[in-house]
Amino acid sequence: MFRRLGLAVLALALAGPVCAQDAWSAARQRMVRDQIEDRGVRNPDVLRVMRATPRHLFVPASVRDFAYEDHPVPIGHGATISQPYIVALMTELLQPARHHRALEIGTGSGYQAAVLAQLVKHVYTIEIVPELAASAAESLRRAGHANVTVRRGDGYKGWPEEAPFDRIILTAAPPGIPPALVAQLSNGGRLVAPVGSTWNQRLVVIDKGADGRIHRRTESAVIFVPMVRERK
Ligand code: SAH
Repeated sequence: MFRRLGLAVLALALAGPVCAQDAWSAARQRMVRDQIEDRGVRNPDVLRVMRATPRHLFVPASVRDFAYEDHPVPIGHGATISQPYIVALMTELLQPARHHRALEIGTGSGYQAAVLAQLVKHVYTIEIVPELAASAAESLRRAGHANVTVRRGDGYKGWPEEAPFDRIILTAAPPGIPPALVAQLSNGGRLVAPVGSTWNQRLVVIDKGADGRIHRRTESAVIFVPMVRERK
């Protein structure tokens, strides 16, 4: 009798976390269906990865309940984790492939890097705020993404030691595309970035041809935190 009761209590104790897992997973499936697929993102690999990536584990515990909502969420130090749809849209625009080496500017929570890490060979990501670089590296390590390297630094300079990159994504908005980043893009490579002032930004897609020639096109309006200059 007591043994049976003990087993029942054990079963209940185990069921708690399992139910919570299911609730996060259900929130994620809804997020992809209602916020991302319904707005036209079609790349099956992007949809699969966004269904699988535990976004709630990349935000501070105090805002965890908002992780799957249809807006950006503050993560401290003036940074935000981007709205899920924007992460999906930019990842789709990037056209990532398994053999790519990618550079991200603005690690923030590490979530965009985690999404990208599941679609390319390696992600190099630069964050200017030391505390965010450290906590993102920790979240990425805990989530098991061994193919992401996080560095604290100034994204305007890129990562010359690891260049060139097949793909570059900016998740903070500069007033214009930093020339060092265009220089660090491979021939045949693509860069996706929000560009503009605080309240007037557009997504820009830059393709570098096999001959090194630059082609630029402008996509939808977006709102990102500004890309700041390193203090001297
Ligand atoms: N990709 C992030 C969202 C980042 S928010 C995510 O998935 O959570 C933008 C980030 O860019 C902030 O963390 C901000 O500190 C960082 N940032 C701003 N200017 C920068 C610069 N010059 N170099 C590197 N990171 C920068």
